[in-house]
Amino acid sequence: MKENIGIIWLREDFRLLKNYALIHANKNHKKLIAVYAYKEKKFIDKKGQKWWVYKSLKNFKEDLSNYNINLQVIKTDTYKSFFEKLLKFKNISIYWNRIYEPAYLNFDNYLENKLKFHKTDYKIFKGNVLNEFNEVTKNDNTPFKVFTPFWRAAEKIHIEKVPSPDTKIKKIAQKTILFKDEMNLKDILPKEDWYKKFDKNWEPDENEALKKLREFIKKGIDNYGNNRNVPSLSGTSKLSPFIKHGQIHVETIWNEVNKEKKNRNNANKFLAEIGWREFGHSLINYFPHMIKGNYSKKFDKFPWKPNSKFLDRWKRGLTGYPIVDAGMRELYETGWMHNRVRMIVGSFLVKHLLIDWREGEKHFRNCLLDYSEANNISGWQWVAGCGADAAPYFRIFNPILQGEKFDKEGNYIKKWVPEIKNVPKKFLHKPWEHRESLDFKIGRDYPEPIVNHEEARAKALDAFKKIK
Ligand SMILES: Cc1cc2nc3c(=O)[nH]c(=O)nc-3n(C[C@H](O)[C@H](O)[C@H](O)COP(=O)(O)OP(=O)(O)OC[C@H]3O[C@@H](n4cnc5c(N)ncnc54)[C@H](O)[C@@H]3O)c2cc1C
Repeated sequence: MKENIGIIWLREDFRLLKNYALIHANKNHKKLIAVYAYKEKKFIDKKGQKWWVYKSLKNFKEDLSNYNINLQVIKTDTYKSFFEKLLKFKNISIYWNRIYEPAYLNFDNYLENKLKFHKTDYKIFKGNVLNEFNEVTKNDNTPFKVFTPFWRAAEKIHIEKVPSPDTKIKKIAQKTILFKDEMNLKDILPKEDWYKKFDKNWEPDENEALKKLREFIKKGIDNYGNNRNVPSLSGTSKLSPFIKHGQIHVETIWNEVNKEKKNRNNANKFLAEIGWREFGHSLINYFPHMIKGNYSKKFDKFPWKPNSKFLDRWKRGLTGYPIVDAGMRELYETGWMHNRVRMIVGSFLVKHLLIDWREGEKHFRNCLLDYSEANNISGWQWVAGCGADAAPYFRIFNPILQGEKFDKEGNYIKKWVPEIKNVPKKFLHKPWEHRESLDFKIGRDYPEPIVNHEEARAKALDAFKKIK
């Protein structure tokens, strides 16, 4: 047992279970403290997440206090200056879990050198993944670029690993305080009232994540194969923001699903989605150029057509295509959007409107509670056709047929686009063909479509020819 103070630097790991840095510190130190360095600049383009982080800090502060561990939240301009401040304290050991984004991993390198120079004790632990990204490579040590062989290899590596014996913190610590200038958590909340709606939909807390997982395994996973494509159903786990902010570790998901595998259908289908997340993390770390640009360089010459009016209509859910508008409104109201609809709205932006995928990525980044660099970048490049193992550009989603197939009864669109609730079922996904009845008039109650599907499709294919 070490006599000095153990410090856990918290980032995206608001959990007691499988929080390896916390477990290690709890085992080895009597005096223990958790610190969160809040950098306003980090959230400047991720406003929705501020609400989730605020709630997470509030809830996790309470969870940790049951173990006599103080969580101190310190405002800082940069992580470097935060560590300058932290290193003024003597006799400390610092622990943290990895985040698999190039900028964070580079900072880890910087910090390691600094701590070594300072002769400060530290240790870095595995973060929220099944495998470290560089454990999964092809036989010739090069990275995978295609999902199926990646996941086959990744699953095998994970199954063959010896599981960690320590899964939860156990000991009550001796209460410790380090900083005198803690920030007021409320200052994290965005200025706009927008976030208030999120309260109705989410409780960012570890117990809630575990409850959601167990309920999904009990009631949702058997029908996941079909229901995951139907946005009006609760057919998916809705765990993404909890995973992103570390309220649940993906190893916990893996273990709980595997325990029930013999009694359940679709367990492998569901775990493969966790696999797509691992694949995304592998891609952005092996091919960091894709964070700002196209994975596939030939798309650098793609003739995008910037159009602020169309972009604004898309963001506000006023394109005149109900399935697209429903998705964009769901995003704004709840900070989340169904995966099938993410693909539809994404495809509409890049193919029907010919707007650069980076504009869509930026908007999602600002609104999504589950925004993750790996998943958002890979998701958008998959949709745009410029990513690794992406949907081919020439396969253009027809928003009318997508709507008719995956929202047959129109329940999803009627929920988010109530203006069309009186349109006859036959026209729900193409209300412009209905045009007018006593209680509905296109152009008055709901916008005309901003582009014609067939014309937009032809233009997209034409644009694609230019880079072939
Ligand atoms: C354009 C676009 C942008 C996206 N941006 C993000 C993002 O910023 N953050 C994010 O977590 N997901 C993103 N996704 C992936 C996916 O839409 C969400 O993970 C999923 O909708 C979350 O809902 P769920 O938790 O109910 O998923 P479930 O179907 O229950 O899946 C369980 C978990 O698997 C992972 N997962 C599921 N689908 C995918 C996928 N296609 N790619 C990678 N991981 C996946 C997520 O962690 C998810 O929570 C994006 C997809 C697209 C098409």
